[in-house]
Amino acid sequence: MLIYAILLMMAAGLILGFILGVAADRLVVTQDPLIDLITELLPGYNCGACGFPGCANFAKGLVEGEANKISLCRPSKPEQRVALKEAFDKNPNIKGDIVRVEI
Ligand code: SF4
Repeated sequence: MLIYAILLMMAAGLILGFILGVAADRLVVTQDPLIDLITELLPGYNCGACGFPGCANFAKGLVEGEANKISLCRPSKPEQRVALKEAFDKNPNIKGDIVRVEI
């Protein structure tokens, strides 16, 4: 009887492992790498002065077109804004498009 219980648990483990493996492969969400690049170039204060909850969300907003002015990040220095503009001009988004933003 014990051997049946062990075999049943092993079979259940294999089936559930297979289902989780397939789900992990199909349900993966790929974030635009440009968002990470822009986030790294922002000041990182997460102050919310830009109107977004944190720098990563502001970067996401810029990349996805919810915002188009880098200067919304008030704590950023002029040289940071220029670096951000250059990053946008040189690096396409995940679709291969150049995102147009203003300083
Ligand atoms: S204003 Fe600038 S530093 Fe503050 S959260 Fe927005 S992007 Fe980050």
